[in-house]
Amino acid sequence: MKFILHATTEITSKPLIAEVILETGTLLNIDRADVKSSGGEVVIDVDQDRYDIVTAAFKKRGVTITPLEQPIIKDDDECVNCGACISVCPTGVISFNDDWTVQMEIARCVQCGACVTMCPQGALMVGK
Ligand code: SF4
Ligand code: SF4
Repeated sequence: MKFILHATTEITSKPLIAEVILETGTLLNIDRADVKSSGGEVVIDVDQDRYDIVTAAFKKRGVTITPLEQPIIKDDDECVNCGACISVCPTGVISFNDDWTVQMEIARCVQCGACVTMCPQGALMVGK
């Protein structure tokens, strides 16, 4: 399961992710990190059975957490199934179905935004 860690300046100055890994004994995948000295966001992916313990450990440290259920959103009314987004995706999220419509395995999305830039229809949006 993915969640967004909202980092304040105070948080970015501490090794919170390392602390949570050590405390919970859980490996975390960092899908995206957009952190500046003024704060930012980190998208973390963790096994579903470790989600509660990991998010509790962050919250205990004063971190705000938002579940990220849809890392990438496609507007099916705008998508024309051109496939332009398929080749730019670094994690193989997007593919054609047998009927040449586009399908997305969104759990694999790391929110790089490449497909959003590529889509001629503006049909894709990174989830928040
Ligand atoms: S945002 Fe990146 S990882 Fe996610 S579907 Fe688009 S290209 Fe793939
Ligand atoms: S690039 Fe846009 S219009 Fe083309 S298949 Fe992907 S989402 Fe649909």
